[in-house]
Amino acid sequence: MGWTDLKAEVLSGGCRIEGELPQGAIARSTAGPGAGGAGAVFFSSDGRRVRIPIGSSGSAVMTVKADGSATLSCNDKTIEGRVEPVGLHCPRQAFVTVSESCVYECAYCPVPGCRGRRKTVEEIVDLVGEVADSVDAIALTSGVAVSIEEEEEYVCRVVEALRRFDLPIGVSIFPAPATPERLRALGVTEVKFNLEAATPELFAALCPGLPCEAVWNALTASIPLFGRGHVFSNVIVGLGETDDELDACVDRLVDLGVVPVLRPLNPVAGCRGRARPTAKRLSRAARHLRSALERAALDPSVALSMCGACTGCDLSTWRDL
Ligand code: SF4
Ligand code: SF4
Repeated sequence: MGWTDLKAEVLSGGCRIEGELPQGAIARSTAGPGAGGAGAVFFSSDGRRVRIPIGSSGSAVMTVKADGSATLSCNDKTIEGRVEPVGLHCPRQAFVTVSESCVYECAYCPVPGCRGRRKTVEEIVDLVGEVADSVDAIALTSGVAVSIEEEEEYVCRVVEALRRFDLPIGVSIFPAPATPERLRALGVTEVKFNLEAATPELFAALCPGLPCEAVWNALTASIPLFGRGHVFSNVIVGLGETDDELDACVDRLVDLGVVPVLRPLNPVAGCRGRARPTAKRLSRAARHLRSALERAALDPSVALSMCGACTGCDLSTWRDL
């Protein structure tokens, strides 16, 4: 078992944590698969990393020493590494959730259940300022506090205020019709508009009230603005799609110039009780993604921000395979 299988095992089945975690290791999340949870730590080894939720169990074990060195073991395979310090939410980035609530209720999403508030622009500037010297990028995501258009407007104000840090900025929000152009005009470097569901039928069933086509349109419009390799879309593995449907979605995204981020289902919110995808299925999907990217000469390693640069929650074709 090498790194790929070990990481797939952790993503699929979880990982126990033993030992004492060093200060600054725990990331508390209001976005992504761990939103509202107890937090997570990041094990890294040789430039690769995996996010491990606090309190998870499974056949893998991470053992941490007081100096932050750690081992990750599963099925007689042990890899040496470290617990990586986090900026905000993840290592090397100031990743901020602007509005910690949502008027929509996508079945797989924990954000509506967070019922959190919207951070003020000043708060966000302060948060980023605290870590700006130790991160490579800023990333913003958000629920939809009032409406898609109102959220876009507010996030644009946040982006304007964050330009002072002179760091690449990645933004992932539900897009309004002019979102790609507006974000690009403000100097945003990368965007991630998430399809999440691999088929339009699953999207309609799981994301009531949201238009799937708006995501495709925004992704299409974003390629000439941000460039190939700087536009991303999360696709969840494990929402009921077949392997063929998943591959077809990946191929369509890649053909557009979009880098798919294959996210294993975290069974929370309306997906509680569903099974996580197996390590085998995750590895197969990642191998298909790698061949699709190679065929299209699309290089995912140029990512500067968000999940494409972090890669903690997914099998990344350029770092993990
Ligand atoms: S639009 Fe859907 S995926 Fe996005 S934050 Fe709201 S509920 Fe979650
Ligand atoms: S891969 Fe994405 S969601 Fe996961 S920790 Fe990194 S930035 Fe957050």
